[in-house]
Amino acid sequence: MDPRMTAALRESAVPYRENEPLARHTTMGVGGPAAVMAFPRSPEELQQTLRLRHELGVAHRVLGGGSNLVAADEGLDELVVNTEELRRIEIREDGEVTAEGGANLIFTVVRCCRAGWRGMESAVGIPGSIGGAAVMNAGAYGFSISDALREIVVYDAAGERTEPPEGWRFHYRGSSIPEGAVVARITVGLSGPGASPPDATRAASSRTRRATPRAGSSTSWGSRGPGSEGRW
Ligand SMILES: Cc1cc2nc3c(=O)[nH]c(=O)nc-3n(C[C@H](O)[C@H](O)[C@H](O)COP(=O)(O)OP(=O)(O)OC[C@H]3O[C@@H](n4cnc5c(N)ncnc54)[C@H](O)[C@@H]3O)c2cc1C
Repeated sequence: MDPRMTAALRESAVPYRENEPLARHTTMGVGGPAAVMAFPRSPEELQQTLRLRHELGVAHRVLGGGSNLVAADEGLDELVVNTEELRRIEIREDGEVTAEGGANLIFTVVRCCRAGWRGMESAVGIPGSIGGAAVMNAGAYGFSISDALREIVVYDAAGERTEPPEGWRFHYRGSSIPEGAVVARITVGLSGPGASPPDATRAASSRTRRATPRAGSSTSWGSRGPGSEGRW
């Protein structure tokens, strides 16, 4: 790892850790050390982190909730951009909800339901972050995040806001957002009033459905699908 990377992060006051075990940040609890892990706390710090690594030519990965990752034991001699500090959620009176990329998806859904807005309840059991859910177009029970999406803010690997002229494309458990780009925030449009908070009945029903093996399915961790291929 280029020592100028940590010097630049320090100078920009972006929090980071060296030799940070990825196992601490993945649901499976596996993964060796990342040479440098940055924890930007605002969109500006996120952009700055990406700009610095671009200028220095440092390879990087984006880490959300770590629920869909298997990291190698030997670790990574790269910069890992951890989004966990980017977790602000704003629920507006018209049912539009803006959540930063590192916000926890389940927490976001529960907050929306408690505020009386419906449209994302089906995602209440999906671990991980808003940004991870957006790039993977996560969903359940016929719902995908893209169904509710109104706006998505993506920074490219050099820290500039980016969007193709035709807009981002979403398909079953995947999107056209390239590896290395970062979902900084999304806005979804929900409807209401009348939504009820996810209660014990819904949680129990969800657990039962997940515990029931599907015919012909093999053992898997979380979701599998064509959109997952090629992502670390
Ligand atoms: C027990 C369990 C149940 C699950 N159930 C479901 C389910 O019902 N439906 C479903 O769709 N999925 C499910 N999953 C899979 C997983 O939760 C989702 O894919 C989730 O959206 C991944 O988000 P994450 O933040 O954890 O991503 P991570 O695991 O951190 O990363 C996954 C990929 O997304 C990228 N990424 C993460 N954050 C960003 C960002 N802000 N910007 C750009 N790229 C980013 C990473 O670089 C990586 O390529 C389940 C997983 C587990 C462990």
